[in-house]
Amino acid sequence: MEISSEIRKPSLIGMTRAELSAALCALGVPDKQLRMRVNQIWGWLYAHGVREFDQMSNVAKDLRENLATHYSLARLELADAQHSDDGTRKYLFRLDDGQLVETVYIPELDRGTLCVSSQVGCTLTCRFCHTGTQKLVRNLTAAEITGQMVAARDDLQDWGTAGPSNSGTRKVTNVVMMGMGEPLYNSDHVAEALNVMSDGDGLSLSKRRITLSTSGVVPEIPPMGEKTGVMLAISLHAVSDELRDELVPLNKKYPIAELLEACRNWPGLSNAKRITFEYVMLKDVNDSDDDARALVKLLAGIPAKINLIPFNPWPGAPYQCSDDKRMQAFADIVNRAGYASPVRRPRGRDIMAACGQLKSASVKQSAAERKKAELATRNLGR
Ligand code: SAH
Ligand code: SF4
Repeated sequence: MEISSEIRKPSLIGMTRAELSAALCALGVPDKQLRMRVNQIWGWLYAHGVREFDQMSNVAKDLRENLATHYSLARLELADAQHSDDGTRKYLFRLDDGQLVETVYIPELDRGTLCVSSQVGCTLTCRFCHTGTQKLVRNLTAAEITGQMVAARDDLQDWGTAGPSNSGTRKVTNVVMMGMGEPLYNSDHVAEALNVMSDGDGLSLSKRRITLSTSGVVPEIPPMGEKTGVMLAISLHAVSDELRDELVPLNKKYPIAELLEACRNWPGLSNAKRITFEYVMLKDVNDSDDDARALVKLLAGIPAKINLIPFNPWPGAPYQCSDDKRMQAFADIVNRAGYASPVRRPRGRDIMAACGQLKSASVKQSAAERKKAELATRNLGR
């Protein structure tokens, strides 16, 4: 039976340090103790992943009880999980208002990458993307974004291996904001969540191991760089404005030249901190030798990596993936120009978990329904 939202306790999971501090303050923790208590509880939430307040062994018993009376350690509700033959896992989470969102875990030899969503659906309509056929339902809260990482680590039994993300023992070592949605249309919540994920006393992901991917919301690029210091990926996919207008309609608003100018100003940009340019390989659309040469020319002078992504098909998609030979010829030109750009092997295709295939069954809400849901979420203290 569903517990009504009025009596459900708000969860500490996903809170920022400021929110946790406010929560403790409201419970009467004296100012003098506040910083120490925040630090202690932060570690239990995000370095150890505890499920019970009683496990917080260095927190005084009366405070643990007080916390348990008013708050929970509830995770996002796992509505479904699918495992691919290649080890990829796709999670479907049901949020407090019933909306559904997807997260994908991709294990590789030297890393484990979590592909995290920023919105339910997407307002943009890139023609090759399945998520783009789903109307935007709403932005995720910062807690729901962080919560995807916490829930994935639960499922992967990735706690108790506390240590930096490159320590070799952790399962989730990298996060890419490449799930559902356009992160730069939800910048504030995404920035808050990324700062929780990179906090060295908690989830402790190196900023070098967090990548934010955008289709090119130019005005939001510099502030996101300043606020987070994470790595940037640009979904380029075409070398002319004419074609990019068609594939990524946002290009009509922010054309290629403006996008690249914003890239050149990305904080810390250097050969050690390159921008990744994603390029989806679409048969007979953007995959000629001329396109490859133009791509290399376009990016000259920008410290860049090029990620060639085989198009991942979905039912009713208007494109096909380029042939292997064509992709190889394209990659050869890019490689000869000095970019190490292996064609990425798609992962999780059998469970529709590959890039651009995420599309949950959420339906668009009416404005009135959304308002109601927002109020309910606010009442939960999130
Ligand atoms: N909205 C952001 C992040 C989510 S999409 C963005 O567009 O960058 C993550 C990546 O998957 C983007 O590079 C996107 O262009 C790519 N993508 C979308 N649909 C795809 C598909 N069907 N096959 C391969 N890549 C796809
Ligand atoms: Fe949205 Fe990114 Fe898909 Fe474009 S590629 S529709 S921006 S999720």
